[in-house]
Amino acid sequence: MGVRVCSRCLYTQNHPLGIYIDENGLCSGCKIHEEKDTLNWPEREQKLKSILSEYKNKNLNNYDCIIPVSGARDSYFIVDKIKNEYGMNPLLVTYNTQYNTERGIRNLVYLRTHFDCDIFTLTVNPQSIKQITRATLRRLGSLYWHVLAGQTVFPVQVAVRLKIPLIIWGAHQGIDQVGMYSHLDEVEMTRKYRKEHDLMGLEAEDLISDEDQIFPKDIYQFRYPDNHDLASVGVRGVYLNNYIRWDTKTQHEQMITKYQYETHPQTRTFDTYNDVDSFVYSDLHDYIKTLKWGYGKVTDHVNREIRLKRLSREDGQKLITQFKDIKPVFTRQFMDWLGVSENSFNFILDQHRNPAIWQRNESWQWQRIEKYDQPSMLMVNKCRLSAQFDDKYINTKNKKPHYQDTDYVMYSKGWV
Ligand SMILES: [Zn+2]
Repeated sequence: MGVRVCSRCLYTQNHPLGIYIDENGLCSGCKIHEEKDTLNWPEREQKLKSILSEYKNKNLNNYDCIIPVSGARDSYFIVDKIKNEYGMNPLLVTYNTQYNTERGIRNLVYLRTHFDCDIFTLTVNPQSIKQITRATLRRLGSLYWHVLAGQTVFPVQVAVRLKIPLIIWGAHQGIDQVGMYSHLDEVEMTRKYRKEHDLMGLEAEDLISDEDQIFPKDIYQFRYPDNHDLASVGVRGVYLNNYIRWDTKTQHEQMITKYQYETHPQTRTFDTYNDVDSFVYSDLHDYIKTLKWGYGKVTDHVNREIRLKRLSREDGQKLITQFKDIKPVFTRQFMDWLGVSENSFNFILDQHRNPAIWQRNESWQWQRIEKYDQPSMLMVNKCRLSAQFDDKYINTKNKKPHYQDTDYVMYSKGWV
């Protein structure tokens, strides 16, 4: 018996966030996704507006809310909505991933300029980041733990410190990918979800170890504030995709037209919009995801597009086949940054290969051995959505200004 596959999208039942496939062959993610076409979105948006109005600062002596941003992934869309459309005065907060691309930095600079917002940035010292990354690579096979931890906690720390109770996030992955909750549950940010899913069960405190040379001074920036502090400010984090019909492709295309958001081809997926700010995310990080789970970001993107009725299951399968085994191109840069040899790096990666998916063949090469129960054509056709094909992604021009002194662009409020 193999692992079951959804009859509409291409997720399998062994998704790390947990997925359930019902007797009709439809997965929980596809089922909840149908709400995007049945819910009364204008009504839901009204609900969001009434939440926002509760937090509008009448005394004009503080920000109205916090928006966590980066040089990619719907940041422009969220700030445009919250500031320009709803008239809030947000403080932008960003965690420096240290895996930046030039265009990610430019996108972030332009974000500050276009929307004329204040921004709060945290750059943790590289020594601690490297110690943490060595440990999480060994323990979890993750080079992204510090990014996920920093991005999910820094806005919460700022909320407590500056007494700005409302944090506005974009899409909740548990809803958008696997249908863990209904949009109507209006789930909000929790310490528990962050630990179990974003951090793969490992809190900052769990990393302290003499063997790894990680001490309390290395991890305090990743600590979630205590309940007393959260309650005294009344911190809450809402997800926009509960109130706005989420469609990241269309959203990015609006931002390209309105604000010249920069896109770029990605190593291991066809989506040129979402993760252009990181040189490892759709590259080495995503490759490691296939070692652990058998699939990469391209499957997430294909399934999203199938559900949004822009891609057929068959064309989606072709895209997955095209991208899933592409080797990362930035491994050398990453190993140099971390200070690890190729041999020990490969040894660590092999430790995290899922034995249900990978096995050595006679010539000692790794080979996929995963077995899937593909649904019958009858089931697939029963679950099929009628698609209006749209698989075009815009590759924008590099907007790097031709000044000698590019520092001006990097550090000032920006150049447009
Ligand atoms: Zn599905």
